[in-house]
Amino acid sequence: MIDDILSLIRRHDRFFITTHIRPDGDALGSEIALGRFLQLLGKDVTIINSDPPPLNMDWMPGIEHVQLFDGGIEQRKKIDGADVLFILDTNAKDRLGKLVGPVRAARGTKVLVDHHTHPEDWFDVTYARETASSTGELIYEIIAAYDADLIETEIATGLYAAIMTDTGSFRYSNVTPAVHRITADILERGEISPAPIHTAVFDTRSVESLRLLGRTLDTLTLIYGGAVAYMVVTPRMLQDSGATSEDTEGIVNYALSVEGVRVAIMFLETEGGTKMSFRSKGDAHVNEWARVLGGGGHKNASGAYLTVPLDQAIERVTSLAPRFLKLDAEEVDEALSDEDEVYLSSLMEMKSQAR
Ligand code: 5GP
Ligand code: MN
Repeated sequence: MIDDILSLIRRHDRFFITTHIRPDGDALGSEIALGRFLQLLGKDVTIINSDPPPLNMDWMPGIEHVQLFDGGIEQRKKIDGADVLFILDTNAKDRLGKLVGPVRAARGTKVLVDHHTHPEDWFDVTYARETASSTGELIYEIIAAYDADLIETEIATGLYAAIMTDTGSFRYSNVTPAVHRITADILERGEISPAPIHTAVFDTRSVESLRLLGRTLDTLTLIYGGAVAYMVVTPRMLQDSGATSEDTEGIVNYALSVEGVRVAIMFLETEGGTKMSFRSKGDAHVNEWARVLGGGGHKNASGAYLTVPLDQAIERVTSLAPRFLKLDAEEVDEALSDEDEVYLSSLMEMKSQAR
């Protein structure tokens, strides 16, 4: 609990912080805020991730303290020598990428701070609440429990970016009055303005990513009478638009915005298989859907990875819809309309020609 964490912070000097692969605003903002807080207390802090920050996060003050894992001796010494290791914004070892080995083998106390469902059991201390909007909200609680006066610009910017990212700019169902109160406190203490942070995070896209968005929207397919929508991104589409797989971030939300759609899925074809991103509205629990595929996440946002080709992934994933969505008889009948069948086979044909 929070007292255990405060006591670890008081008693120890060497801290290590990491987060999940493909780190997002919540992951990086939380790391930077916690790291800066510990540094202000005079601690030795090392932050290392498996993947680099995305473009829209590399402006954050403090990002220069976030290292990329290189497998070198210096970094290994920091991980092995840490008294306390913080694992933020993921509770699953297969989301730690290259850091899973070094972190699990490290001798220090392993502390989970996270807001996903079903935490794994290898942590020594767990501070997790799935109803929290973000990991940033939990980091705020830790810092505020220690001494809220420590919140300055860098901490505030990290926390604000974290909460803003995971609440979709304060509009998802995880937003509560408490989230707004915390956010107001962060803005005040850090003396920061929200507008430039929004611009940097959400309104800064590359031309390539917009081209990819256009092509991806073209693949929008509605199934189950329009209750489920999916889109696909192939390596060919990435190549043609000059985009990277990072540029797929957020596109799935367009499919969810279609009237009547309750679950949206984005399929990203990769070399070894297919990555899925699920988003849902209301009571459709897509974390359960992702879990049967070996993934996880939140009720309304989750993901998984299957080591099968795109077409098989689409078939396997979409056929599960009736298990996780309350569909009426008509919607079940309309699993795939004739039109969609034709569209899907033309897409597959296009792909096989492209190979
Ligand atoms: P995204 O679709 O943005 O990649 O991920 C949405 C949510 O699902 C995130 O909160 C992330 O933690 C979770 N998630 C995505 N992919 C995986 C996965 O392969 N395994 C697990 N356990 N969670 C995932
Ligand atoms: Mn998060």
